[in-house]
Amino acid sequence: MIDVLVAGGGPAGLATAINAALAGMEAVVVEPRPGPVDKACGEGLMPTGAAALADLGVAVPDGRPFRGIRYVDGPHRVQAEFRDGPGLGLGVRRTALHTALVHRARDLGVRVVRGRVDAVRAAGEGVRAHVAGGPEQGGSELSGPDLCGPELCGPELCGPEPCGREFGARWLVAADGLHSPIRALLGLDLPSGGPRRYGLRRHYRIAPWTDFVEVHWAPGGEAYVTPVGDDLVGVAVLSSERRTYDEHLARFPDLLARLDGPPATPVRGAGPLRQRVRRRVAGRILLVGDAAGYVDALTGEGISLALLSARALVGCLMVGRPEEYENAWRRLSWRSRLLTAALVRARRHPPAARMIVPAARRLPSVFGAAVRSLA
Ligand SMILES: Cc1cc2nc3c(=O)[nH]c(=O)nc-3n(C[C@H](O)[C@H](O)[C@H](O)COP(=O)(O)OP(=O)(O)OC[C@H]3O[C@@H](n4cnc5c(N)ncnc54)[C@H](O)[C@@H]3O)c2cc1C
Repeated sequence: MIDVLVAGGGPAGLATAINAALAGMEAVVVEPRPGPVDKACGEGLMPTGAAALADLGVAVPDGRPFRGIRYVDGPHRVQAEFRDGPGLGLGVRRTALHTALVHRARDLGVRVVRGRVDAVRAAGEGVRAHVAGGPEQGGSELSGPDLCGPELCGPELCGPEPCGREFGARWLVAADGLHSPIRALLGLDLPSGGPRRYGLRRHYRIAPWTDFVEVHWAPGGEAYVTPVGDDLVGVAVLSSERRTYDEHLARFPDLLARLDGPPATPVRGAGPLRQRVRRRVAGRILLVGDAAGYVDALTGEGISLALLSARALVGCLMVGRPEEYENAWRRLSWRSRLLTAALVRARRHPPAARMIVPAARRLPSVFGAAVRSLA
């Protein structure tokens, strides 16, 4: 029986495994996608997230520091620096972040298994999880005829008892993302209500023109721009309207005029963004990262929260009080949930939405305090 089985090799899952390994526990991560894993993301890591990465001993070789947040709405602009706070933010490609996290995890002895957790059940003092999927990512101890490939495994091909492999663990951590299949299996989803919002992102091969993350506001959507390399910027658009990436971007003519380099990556999307969750602890199964619940990408803190909650989760396991993770998660995330929900609510009402940037400009200390609280 391993100590911690982690379903999902995104930032939340890998950070959980690294924290567990640092605490002397045996951790295995199950991830269906081959690395380096990419994802629709604005890729701006807030200063607390960047600091949490450093605390884990994760070295991100590529990336570009940013020193604050700038809001832009036509002629109105307002910016605030993170100064006096915990340092700089980090713009970093998800592929670079994934590679750095996997290296650190492997150095600490964490096994990363290629596959998908598709069934879980309580078993005595632990949990058993069925993993369907392909061979282990680098490494050999789990490859072989007893581990089926994606083309072999699945109820349609294998009958009611799909082949694959079962893992026994003292704890299962569901870090399987926004639409967490494990959360759904456990019946922990709640109806989200409100308009559904979606995010799309693409990169442009151009030199960043600023060391701020810029959030551009337009009727019906936001675009946010993150410098992620010396010649690369990421542009994510968020909206409740289902349109193509180019249609969204056309609403930001000033921004569009700056994006004169060729697109460097295909468009990737995610959503609906808002996910409400009944609770984050179900016996020996705990939810972390987006799987634990999500409001919106508008304030760009998902990765930072994932890293901080992973640390809190492992802390609760270490002292044998997993139930305390629920409150720890609430304490860590309430400020961000409140602010993000308020912005998204204001967004829904066009007169209020038009006032967001001008009001922030008129009240720079309030805007500054909000930015530093996110940091
Ligand atoms: C458009 C957009 C912009 C964003 N911008 C920012 C930003 O600028 N800054 C920021 O901090 N955050 C941002 N976020 C949020 C951020 O992307 C997420 O909060 C972050 O990825 C959460 O990490 P995670 O590990 O919980 O989930 P993920 O990164 O989604 O990882 C989950 C992993 O679980 C795997 N998985 C799924 N099902 C299973 C299964 N059954 N078994 C095993 N594995 C499974 C998936 O393959 C995936 O790799 C943004 C999000 C969006 C959509």
